[in-house]
Amino acid sequence: MPELPEVETVRRGLSPAMEGRVISRAEIRRPDLRWPFPERMAERLEGARITHLGRRSKYLLLTLDRGETLIVHLGMSGRMLIEGAQTAAYRIEHAAPQKHDHVVLHLDDGARITFNDPRRFGTMDLAPSDSIDSHWLLAKLGPEPLGNGFDESHLVAAFRGRNTPVKSALLDQRIVAGLGNIYVCEALHLAGISPRRKAGQIATPRVRALVPAIRETLAKAIEAGGSSLRNYRQADGALGYFQHSFRVYDREGGPCVTPGCPGTIRRIVQSGRSSFYCATCQR
Ligand SMILES: [Zn+2]
Repeated sequence: MPELPEVETVRRGLSPAMEGRVISRAEIRRPDLRWPFPERMAERLEGARITHLGRRSKYLLLTLDRGETLIVHLGMSGRMLIEGAQTAAYRIEHAAPQKHDHVVLHLDDGARITFNDPRRFGTMDLAPSDSIDSHWLLAKLGPEPLGNGFDESHLVAAFRGRNTPVKSALLDQRIVAGLGNIYVCEALHLAGISPRRKAGQIATPRVRALVPAIRETLAKAIEAGGSSLRNYRQADGALGYFQHSFRVYDREGGPCVTPGCPGTIRRIVQSGRSSFYCATCQR
């Protein structure tokens, strides 16, 4: 499932092809993904200019010049394909339509942006731009982990008295938006905090240290996504996933990368999801 760095990489890949372009035709090939598409979606998109391609948590936000914003979530398996773009660095030939191409946006320079999603957990909705933050998908989200609203005092206050494991607290989108299983495991390892420790029982200086650990983890992953864009020559032109080396994630039985730590990475299951950590240096 794409997490924040993957979505940010998709945004950076799409923006040169989409920003400033007019959607000349919108092909909507089914009535829904995870939820029904908005009413008259094609009509509301066709003829609109994309003024800005932004991101909030794991949602892409396409601001249109008609006062509406298209909200896009990639779900579990969603990908964006760019074909025939004149302006993007990632120009590829038009590929044959594929089975899971659910929405195709034809842009005024001849480019096609295709949303492909085999499992159909993705989402698209249209909402007024001036009240986008109160849309039901976005209204309850906490601060962006790379934004100014996410700082040491916010996290200390959010953890105070909380009796759940720190892993669950960091996955709570109301505390911090956009963190998923992979990067929570990674950030906890960097900060030396066990995923099993109760959030409310971590000493304040260690909670404060989690903030730069989360920021560094995400920034490095976004950087890795950026290099995957620079090497972007995949045959199908799909954006959404990139190779990245992890500190602990999916490394069960491997040696810990913390300098001087003799530990081995373990896997445990918390709330039905795998946590990878080093019991030697994460306390
Ligand atoms: Zn270790």
